[in-house]
Amino acid sequence: MINTAALLARVDLVDLVGREVTLKKQGAEWVGCCPFHDERTPSFHVVPAKGFVHCFGCGAHHDAIGYTMAMYHYDFAEACRKLGGQEMGDAVRKAVRAVPQRANDKPVELWVPIYPVPDSAPRWVAGERGSVWNPKREPRVPGGTPGGWWELAPDRADAYRAADGALMGYVLRVMIEGKKMTPTVTWCIGPRGEARWCLQHFPEPRPLCGLDALAERPDAPVLVVEGEKCRAVSAGALPAYVCVAWPGGTKGVKYVDFSPLAGRDVVLWPDADEGGFGAMLGYVDGSGLLHEGVAQFAHRAGARSLRVVDVSVQSKGWDIADAIEDGWTPRQLAGWAKARVRTVEVRESEGMAV
Ligand SMILES: [Zn+2]
Repeated sequence: MINTAALLARVDLVDLVGREVTLKKQGAEWVGCCPFHDERTPSFHVVPAKGFVHCFGCGAHHDAIGYTMAMYHYDFAEACRKLGGQEMGDAVRKAVRAVPQRANDKPVELWVPIYPVPDSAPRWVAGERGSVWNPKREPRVPGGTPGGWWELAPDRADAYRAADGALMGYVLRVMIEGKKMTPTVTWCIGPRGEARWCLQHFPEPRPLCGLDALAERPDAPVLVVEGEKCRAVSAGALPAYVCVAWPGGTKGVKYVDFSPLAGRDVVLWPDADEGGFGAMLGYVDGSGLLHEGVAQFAHRAGARSLRVVDVSVQSKGWDIADAIEDGWTPRQLAGWAKARVRTVEVRESEGMAV
């Protein structure tokens, strides 16, 4: 995932904009005539303390990268290089190649997920409406611009944060016609330099949910659960553990970066169903192919120890959140798990043995 913080911190925004726009100081801001629309009365503000430019006339709003893209018609990687971020430009090129360029055989516009999400970006809050841009939506008219807005009011908004606490994006939970959806939203820069929330996955390898907690308590044992809701509940109920989850559900395991589990004592707590067991322990499909689970990835990442809670006696689909909702106390939950935890042995060639 592209971290723009270091590059943006190095850029002198007033100097950058000042090359093209005559600026006058006005308190903590600098003001000039907007380079993106025709005007005689200056309404284009440069706010160096917050790291963005904003036009009250046309609504243009950019950080240094977005400004450079819009001003000079650069793509994201070119803008990074122009601002002295050669390495980042290269990283972006690499990340961009990992993003599908076409959806359903239709071209899509490229939106690059970046972090940290700037302070000026709206936050997602459960129960509050927000707008997200879907770059893959088909054009309204044939040959038109792809993409469109989606208004939604998520009933969960789980933040994904980097080890240093920087906000990387959210996994939302939305009910659409009675069906649960868990879209990932990331803060992206578009082809014309504009930035907004997009319906776009984290680039691969995707981050774990709980990286900040992992970094804060490097010696604590780690509990891996399925889904952001279970992670939040278990973090509250089992404070002895750092609780983590991964994005994308049972099918998303293979896209995740498990390297932060290196050197850690790891306990896996699967959902009590076939998909849940498979996601944690791996499974062999009908054609004999091994689909690796969290256990194999954590083992390869160098986890110090690996255990799993045997939840097979529970009803199908049961998870930690169900237990707490059913009135289990955290103490009961911990005691129950303690009696059912088993060591996991990973044999490289054949996958899994418990
Ligand atoms: Zn303007």
